Amino acid sequence: MSDLMSKKGVIYKAISGFYYVETGSETVVCKAPGRFRLENLIPLVGDNAAFTPDIEGRGVLAEIGERKNVFIRPPIANIDQMIIVASGATPVTDPFLVDRMIATAEISDCDVVICVNKTDLDSADKLFDIYTKSGFVTIRTSAETGEGGAALFGAIRGKVSAFTGNSGVGKSSILNMLYPELRISVAEVSRKLGRGRHTTRHVQLYKLAPGTLVADTPGFSAFATDKIDSLDKGDVQYLFRDFKGYLGKCRFRDCAHIKEDGCAVLEAVRRGEIQKSRRDSYVLLYEQVKNLKKWK
Ligand code: GDP
Ligand code: ZN
Repeated sequence: MSDLMSKKGVIYKAISGFYYVETGSETVVCKAPGRFRLENLIPLVGDNAAFTPDIEGRGVLAEIGERKNVFIRPPIANIDQMIIVASGATPVTDPFLVDRMIATAEISDCDVVICVNKTDLDSADKLFDIYTKSGFVTIRTSAETGEGGAALFGAIRGKVSAFTGNSGVGKSSILNMLYPELRISVAEVSRKLGRGRHTTRHVQLYKLAPGTLVADTPGFSAFATDKIDSLDKGDVQYLFRDFKGYLGKCRFRDCAHIKEDGCAVLEAVRRGEIQKSRRDSYVLLYEQVKNLKKWK
């Protein structure tokens, strides 16, 4: 990005061939140059881009910065952290779902923050316990009472975050609590309109404060875990950061930590140093990856 004529910014929105680039002081709508097609380069929301402004206040993209990570579904790049929203109230979150999302984040080099929402209805002590003890930043929130709002804002400040979690867990409500000006429609609004919530949405980054960006939630609620499908079964253990201190300490070098004698991971579970539900998720994920490979 050396061109003296060019400016830089972040693509925060992409609609039918137009890329909205936020420079920090303005938004410039850009088109991609023809050579991007030849290079098979498709600009993504989240990309750092250099562009050449024209006299009409629009621009042409010149260069796309190196990506820290890329997601295909939804198409987005450079996510710093995943905020995984869970709930102990309806719809109750299955820890396996959380652990699958954590695994996806780990593959992509994304940080993880666990947000236990709807604490006004259920304090979700079990979920809170699992993730705190497993070494994750875990924040309790209630979009209803505002509990935890400041703590959560502290966790997303200055970063690019994507909220994910099962549908109905409160992702849109939390974003509205953090930044009321956003007014992301909650489920009720869509129900009144009588159509699905995901029909007209595209991925977009919202600016909550300078440098504080979040991906809109519907795109990430059906968050793709395709990266898991390309794993080998032996990789799965590395996606559980709480296993780290025990890997390589099992009796057998190729221990799968399923039911082997002298398994350091299983012993840690017995001693309460690894949470049982994390180990259960590991086994499920291991079996999934193993079976996928068998059928390919
Ligand atoms: P999303 O699908 O994850 O975006 O969930 P929504 O934000 O659309 O919320 C689903 C429903 O749960 C809505 O009726 C919200 O009003 C409700 N809700 C969300 N957060 C809370 C909360 O912290 N407490 C209570 N009591 N209800 C909540
Ligand atoms: Zn083992």
